[in-house]
Amino acid sequence: MIKELSELGKKIRTQNNSRKFIHNALKEEPVTIDLVINEDGSFHSYNTFEKKMTTAETITAKKGKARLLLDKAEEVLGYGGESSKKKHQLYLDKIEQYKNLKELKPVLFFYKQNKINGVDKALSEFENAIPEKERKGNIAFRVLNRDKRIHEEANVFQSIIEYYEKTQKMLLSKTRKKCSICNTDEYPVVDEPHGMIKKVPEGQSSGSALVSYNKNAFESYELKGNNNSAICTNCAKTYVEGLNWLLSAGPRVLSKKGKEYTAYTNRKNFGPDTAMVFWARENAQVNEVGLLDKPDPREIANLVDSVAQGNNRNTQYLKTDQFYSCTLSGSAARISVRDWIETSLVDFRKNIAKWFQDIAIDYFDFDSKKCQPHYSRLYDLARSCQNEKEDKEITLSRIAGHLWNCALKNNPPPIWILTSVLKRARSDKKGVTPERAALIKLILNRNNKGGIFMVQEKMSQESVRPVAYICGQIFAKLESIQFAAHGDLNAGIREKYFTYSMTLPSSAFGRLFNLNSKHFTKLKGEKPGLAIVLDKELQALCKDIKIEEFPATFSLEEQGQFAIGYYHQKIFRFNKPDLKKITQEQEAQDE
Ligand SMILES: [Zn+2]
Repeated sequence: MIKELSELGKKIRTQNNSRKFIHNALKEEPVTIDLVINEDGSFHSYNTFEKKMTTAETITAKKGKARLLLDKAEEVLGYGGESSKKKHQLYLDKIEQYKNLKELKPVLFFYKQNKINGVDKALSEFENAIPEKERKGNIAFRVLNRDKRIHEEANVFQSIIEYYEKTQKMLLSKTRKKCSICNTDEYPVVDEPHGMIKKVPEGQSSGSALVSYNKNAFESYELKGNNNSAICTNCAKTYVEGLNWLLSAGPRVLSKKGKEYTAYTNRKNFGPDTAMVFWARENAQVNEVGLLDKPDPREIANLVDSVAQGNNRNTQYLKTDQFYSCTLSGSAARISVRDWIETSLVDFRKNIAKWFQDIAIDYFDFDSKKCQPHYSRLYDLARSCQNEKEDKEITLSRIAGHLWNCALKNNPPPIWILTSVLKRARSDKKGVTPERAALIKLILNRNNKGGIFMVQEKMSQESVRPVAYICGQIFAKLESIQFAAHGDLNAGIREKYFTYSMTLPSSAFGRLFNLNSKHFTKLKGEKPGLAIVLDKELQALCKDIKIEEFPATFSLEEQGQFAIGYYHQKIFRFNKPDLKKITQEQEAQDE
């Protein structure tokens, strides 16, 4: 995973024109305050502005380090009293390293010869000049009337690079250790923290570490620190850049409410603590991922078609590309990798097509008055297992993470998700929604190891169907008879008997049939035509199962089949354009 992230980081360096990569020793950093001084080092003024990016020395961790000529007030001015003393000294030591540069002369005056008019004055003016909430920004030096900040001078860059390379060479001569990522000893493997990963959900704002060894538990076989993972300084930088890019890439756009946000191109957020990032090695666009979010029936049909055709063709001439995805959760300073997926782009496309075939379920579209396949968003499938009243956000992101893996790798979802979704289908007012039916279908079919009955998109017309499926259908029919007789009841048979029938069918259906004869008698008196049609349909269903065949209990899988049978039958009720006609004819005859 680190290797692929590092490869991605290298690619971005060559592609990203807006922030051109110069050298490992330099990095883009924000700046919000200019400290303007005169040539003689005396303080002139502060100038604050909206955050800008500037190129400056790379430092891998903030702790125990100071950046040349670009840092916070604690380092630059010793602001904050006793506690900042150490930081300020680190900063001064860094300047001392570069004291021979002529560009730094005014700064040296500022701290030394002209101290009273320089740094002392700047410190005493600091609180007056800078509002409190802006005091945490990075401060840069600028000589009055000069275009560039001092740290942006070409000569300063050159010296930073030279110093960096000298240090690398020295480290290299000491260690000569092969990097486990690039497999060369071109760059040294050193015991220092890799850069920080930003924008990880629930991570700290200054960033979290993907690889860290500040605890003894990470040290084994007497290997200390970074020697445990053996990642060279170059690979450490490139993987951090790659992952940071994945987490933040995307255009800034305006929401409907006029709020600006980043439309991430390579990241999906699932729940509050989890994000998935994904990319293709050749950096090809992977539009199929977007379909998981916004399923478009026409595009899905195109994808399924093209995958089917691709199967028949000789695929060896197709450009092979790899698809990668990792699922990350933050916990303050550390990142946990929940999942790592690596697959060929060809397989990835096949799997996405298969995903949509597996989650497709008929639903009745009231606008077009037609039954058509429904494709749920992945996130909605996960959410259909969630109790909206309780705070189950974490469960939501766990389930979404599993489904993401199932979609990309064509894996079967864990069976415990079936327990969650059935629980919601039983207790929630909305019952078996298209999302829940789709999720149940997916779980049942993908976990069906050589079983015979595969749940279809449409209602099964076969005479041999599982008993549980038929029971679900019968339940739906009993419900429509009740509805026809009594209209919408606050607590109808679904509210009272759905769970009962699903778990203890034999005794539940005994009662349901008793109840039904009462509903039927009432209906026959009021709408005899409709009563006959519905009863015929009920009898047709009951003919496939003998009353003594109702089992005492249903297994978890059978409960799933029950829910699907119920859902299919219910949808089917709407999808009979001739039902109205039949009842009208029947009623005309009766009169
Ligand atoms: Zn390396």
